[in-house]
Amino acid sequence: MIIAVDGPSGSGKSSTARGVATRLGLRYLDTGAMYRAVTWSALEHGLDLDDTEAVAERARQVELSISTDAQHARFTADGTDVTEAIRDPRISASVSKIATNLAVREELIRRQRAIIDEAVDDTGGIVVEGRDIATVVATHAELKVLLTADQDARMERRKAELAEGAVTAEQLRDQIVRRDADDATVSEFQVASDGAVTVDSTHLSLEEVIDVISRLAKE
Ligand code: C5P
Repeated sequence: MIIAVDGPSGSGKSSTARGVATRLGLRYLDTGAMYRAVTWSALEHGLDLDDTEAVAERARQVELSISTDAQHARFTADGTDVTEAIRDPRISASVSKIATNLAVREELIRRQRAIIDEAVDDTGGIVVEGRDIATVVATHAELKVLLTADQDARMERRKAELAEGAVTAEQLRDQIVRRDADDATVSEFQVASDGAVTVDSTHLSLEEVIDVISRLAKE
């Protein structure tokens, strides 16, 4: 079984997808982390992120190792553990530029499909989170969830993730609104796909969202 969980930043996608995978004993893939790891690698190599060809080549060359264990999701890029580094605000600020590079998308989608196929063959199922899973990467997913939350709730969640006082409320709103706008430039993003169930998490706890999706998966 494949469960696709798509949604904007701060919608609670990661915690939700991890929680559902743990609850149902499935593998877990964070596709956003792959775009982040390519961003990290491109910056590490001192590339100009506007040089689409060079960045695409980096995406094809970088060796990514991605653990699909929901409890211990770790990522390495060219042998370096980047699990923490890819969450750096420097990466968040640049990742949309990498993600709107169509050649990068082509390469990462190819890799994502291979990881999904392997998980389904070996273990029976995987929860995949991202922006275009139901619409592009795994259109055959048995369950497609579009997770939403209003902007204030998403800001609150992002704030809780960051170190106390690291950014002001205004900066945070800027970051969320700007990344939404940047991400929207690739047309497939955040478009509800056929058969997707929209789950609005604004007024739900994490456990409640996990319950809703786990129940849908068992139907
Ligand atoms: O989910 P997360 O916020 O970590 O994703 C980081 C960025 O990666 C997003 O802002 C988006 O630009 C990109 N992304 C994407 N397609 C996906 C997952 C993430 O373009 N399937």
